[in-house]
Amino acid sequence: MAALNKTHDPARRSWVESANDPDSGFPIQNLPYGVFSVGNGPKRVGVAIGDQILDLTALETIGTLTPGGETPVFDQGALNPLMALPQAAWSQTRAAIADLLDADGGDPTLPLVAQSDVALHLPIYVRSFTDFYASKEHATNVGTMFRDPENALMPNWLHIPIGYNGRASTVVVSGTDIHRPNGQLKGPQDTEPRFGPCAKLDIELELGAIVGTPNPMGQPVTAAQAYDNIFGYVLMNDWSARDIQVWEYQPLGPFQSKAFATTISPWVVTREALESFRVSAPGRVTPLLPYLQEDSANNFDIQMEVALAPKGAAATTISRTNYKYMYYSSALQLVHHASSGCAMETGDLLGSGTISGPTPDSFGSLLELSWNGRDPIAVEGGARSFLEDGDRIEITGLCEGDYRVGFGACSGTILPAVDFGGS
Ligand code: CA
Repeated sequence: MAALNKTHDPARRSWVESANDPDSGFPIQNLPYGVFSVGNGPKRVGVAIGDQILDLTALETIGTLTPGGETPVFDQGALNPLMALPQAAWSQTRAAIADLLDADGGDPTLPLVAQSDVALHLPIYVRSFTDFYASKEHATNVGTMFRDPENALMPNWLHIPIGYNGRASTVVVSGTDIHRPNGQLKGPQDTEPRFGPCAKLDIELELGAIVGTPNPMGQPVTAAQAYDNIFGYVLMNDWSARDIQVWEYQPLGPFQSKAFATTISPWVVTREALESFRVSAPGRVTPLLPYLQEDSANNFDIQMEVALAPKGAAATTISRTNYKYMYYSSALQLVHHASSGCAMETGDLLGSGTISGPTPDSFGSLLELSWNGRDPIAVEGGARSFLEDGDRIEITGLCEGDYRVGFGACSGTILPAVDFGGS
């Protein structure tokens, strides 16, 4: 199913001039979907093109673009109805949008809205959220810090894409402020636990995969099917409370330390747009079981950066890494998730897990960058081991080849903890 086609032709240009700027992450070869509103108007589905948005809800209303035939798919303020269509319809819709926007034969009279004039919303209704732990570098760093440097990876790690079921209810769109969470805390020197604001508030640089095609309960999927079942990808910051986590996580894993907020970027870059940037997973330390073996390149070459800006100060880039380092691809995560017979639904969000590269400047969390506070990192206006109130984090992602495929930005600012009135 997955293949390069005319929508990946690097020679194509759009009549939307800003899309042809070589610095734009939204050329005609990308076409990410999002949900926007203008003023107090209703939510509408659109496609980013240069610094503009093509209004797909308007195009569906006038009959120019009707992926669902008689049934509207752009009238719900979310991408789920489009994602629930057969995969062939995803490709046909992308091809049709590219044709409409093409400088050669497109229609320059179509309705555009400037991105600077809109509010962007959560692009999907998040059905369920599962978070993985799939970077070998990240798992090794954390194991080295908290367990045993000689046996940093748990014995299961090289065999299973480790994950846990998270909260869909607190997945928010980029730009949403995040309150510092309160929680139960007990430091190594404390005799008793107490309740209060998290003091080790962290980020996790991740990529989110969005399931389009469901698999019914009891029907697992192959790696090739899983790759195709994923509709698209977003940048993700899985905010984490390390001091709450260290006290609560045994024996069932993280709970409140990960439940308070997860931020995703507003533009869903389709799996098809990433087709030119496929790369193979890193070499296997030990062979995976047959159901987890993949015979195609299911990773992507996506450059990712994290910037931190204290309140009133300029942003400092604190990490540069790449999604290609991930040991387990999103496709393999989906295979494993469905392997028990677990039903995966349209709108399910799978977090990759923190994406850390091999060098200290490519780590995807403050926990690793500051080595749990031992080595605070320098930023404009101060130094940081963990996040302070007023800090703003921005994650960006970009594929670069014959053309660019940008993800835009995923940002959030930390507000003080809500006062619960005592501990
Ligand atoms: Ca995470």
